[in-house]
Amino acid sequence: MPATLIDGKSLAASVRAEQRSAVTSLAARGVRPGLAAILAGDDPASRVYVRNKARACDETGMRSEVHEFPEQVSEAALLECVARLNADPRVHGIVVQLPLPRHLDAARVLAAVSPAKDVDGFHAVNLGALVQGRPGFVPGTPGGVMRLLAHAGVPLAGRRAVIVGRSTIVGKPLALLLLQKDATVTICHSKTADLAAVTAQADILIAAVGRAKLVTAEMVKRGACVVDVGINRLADGTLAGDVDFAAAREVAGWITPVPGGVGPMTVAMLIVNTVRAAQLSIGIPLG
Ligand code: NAP
Repeated sequence: MPATLIDGKSLAASVRAEQRSAVTSLAARGVRPGLAAILAGDDPASRVYVRNKARACDETGMRSEVHEFPEQVSEAALLECVARLNADPRVHGIVVQLPLPRHLDAARVLAAVSPAKDVDGFHAVNLGALVQGRPGFVPGTPGGVMRLLAHAGVPLAGRRAVIVGRSTIVGKPLALLLLQKDATVTICHSKTADLAAVTAQADILIAAVGRAKLVTAEMVKRGACVVDVGINRLADGTLAGDVDFAAAREVAGWITPVPGGVGPMTVAMLIVNTVRAAQLSIGIPLG
């Protein structure tokens, strides 16, 4: 029997609907959540991502603004923009769209964002809170994966979770979130020996690499939950994840599609974080 499809698109729509009512409650207290995105350079994918985030804000009744800079922008100009947004009471969340042009130090720009407005959860204060299990902003993609797993009813406690990819924005925070749910977590990367032998033991297998069809059906344990974070543009212009979807679907118990799986949840969780940031601004603590 083919795997149960985990539909990120419809879950993201219901998360946005739930946030719309939180936005209405905030409006009654005179607060309209606002998200500011900083976009530097001409990367077409970044432009699409920023547009999707602004659209999700509109749909949820939130305010959004985009600050665009040319490819050659100086770090000082970006830092000045971040400082202005940090001080602006109408802005509750700030997103620095990555990647930044190569001459800029992304770590320095991200570190300048106020942790209370760091709705991407990339600031060391928020990543540190995640390590310590304290409230903070969790990055959207790992947060979205956890919502998808909860929604599908995938058991986590005591199960083996294997994450392929160790980036700071996906793999590492996801490992911490799965650990919080009592999974036994392994993180794989480009130097992992015999990757297939490790992934074949996974009850929950997460692919976050950026290589189409890296995960084949042979690497998947029968009945496992396979979550595909990867986004790869194929030669014919279509999008594909990191998993050989058609083949893995015949082996897995649950699987997320690309597109329509993790991607929409990433944006939805950014909305959740921005609403939480707006609540924080009026003294409602992060739960
Ligand atoms: P990244 O920073 O490039 O990290 C990729 C990871 O994959 C690295 O840890 C790398 O190992 C590992 N890797 C590379 N080749 C490998 C191999 N052959 N076997 C095992 N591991 C290998 O990427 P990222 O930012 O985490 O993104 C990963 C993918 O997710 C990309 O396709 C990206 O577009 C997508 N993504 C999607 C969303 C979404 O909303 N759906 C959000 C963010 C990212 P090393 O550390 O050893 O180099």
